[in-house]
Amino acid sequence: MATITQDPAYEFPPYKSLENATLIDRIEAVRKQLGAELMILGHHYQQDEVVALSDLRGDSYQLSQMAASSSDCRHIVFCGVHFMAETADILANRPDKLAERDGTRVNVILPDLAAGCSMADMAGIEQVEAAWEDLGEVIDTNDITPVTYINSAASLKAFCGRHGGIVCTSSNAAAVLEWAFARTGRVLFFPDQHLGRNTALKMGITNDQMPVWDPHDDDLGGNTSDALQRSKVVLWKGHCSVHQMFRPEHVHQFREKFPGIQILVHPECPQEVNDLADLSGSTGFIIKTVEAANPGSTWAIGTELHLVNRLKAEHPEQEIHFLSPVVCMCATMYRINLAHLCWSLENLAAGTPVNVIEVDAETTKWSLVALERMLQVK
Ligand code: SF4
Repeated sequence: MATITQDPAYEFPPYKSLENATLIDRIEAVRKQLGAELMILGHHYQQDEVVALSDLRGDSYQLSQMAASSSDCRHIVFCGVHFMAETADILANRPDKLAERDGTRVNVILPDLAAGCSMADMAGIEQVEAAWEDLGEVIDTNDITPVTYINSAASLKAFCGRHGGIVCTSSNAAAVLEWAFARTGRVLFFPDQHLGRNTALKMGITNDQMPVWDPHDDDLGGNTSDALQRSKVVLWKGHCSVHQMFRPEHVHQFREKFPGIQILVHPECPQEVNDLADLSGSTGFIIKTVEAANPGSTWAIGTELHLVNRLKAEHPEQEIHFLSPVVCMCATMYRINLAHLCWSLENLAAGTPVNVIEVDAETTKWSLVALERMLQVK
């Protein structure tokens, strides 16, 4: 479990009324004061004004790893969502790193505690433990590898560590599934059914071999014993509320309007969208694909709005469209604004850190086991 420290003298409201220019000046003043001890991490889905003030920009695992490898860093302010701050805490305060710093912890701060992830929230540890027990009634759990997407609570990563399982990202999901199938006949994949399904389909596993486990259905997650015994991948009934919004009709509309357009999507999008797309891959893959494309290429991209808008701004030589008529942005990540950033930084500089995310030692230990297994997978 992650513990959270909040200043008892909670003084956020006055920050809301400040102009952006004032907030930026005050944030820059703290950056100058704390120097290399402070790292502000800006996730790709973050709003531009926050990214502009970040020391590093990237996806969640990349950012955590980069911050954890810095020998000067003592404070990480993670402009992302809750599970990302947990991962940063696990990596930055793992035992070998703590020993190098004579036991001094790196403070990991999430500027707004309400910045959660709807996908991560769809798989609670009690639900996963109950599912494991229920699955054990019809399948030998020694023949199941639990795989959690990195977009999950630390408690789930620890569950995987304890049960011979592993963590995956959207860029290494196929290699992780191969690793799992070299050990067991089946996988329990959580919390994102779409990443699990899209990845396994490319490996030749059929939908018939991928029953969906509904944690709200007490009767074997809504499955028959037969279906579970036939399974290769049991998919958790979770999804990303942002990527779930992209629909096949959006692909058809763009193809009709812009003949020759290339459709590039994230594997958190539903199968019907992935099947129609020209290319599908992680955030890093999407960025690299656009960077490497010939000038004048036309794209419709199905991923978070802020990232697509930033790609548009940074690549005027390409014609980039957002693959949806509706606004698909990560509303929880959007909660991290300049006011929250300034408030958390000024408290940090004053020696009264707020919103500190600290994962307990036992959860850290087992999460690291699952994360280390992932690092062994090439
Ligand atoms: S984009 Fe989706 S998966 Fe990513 S943080 Fe937001 S809700 Fe979670």
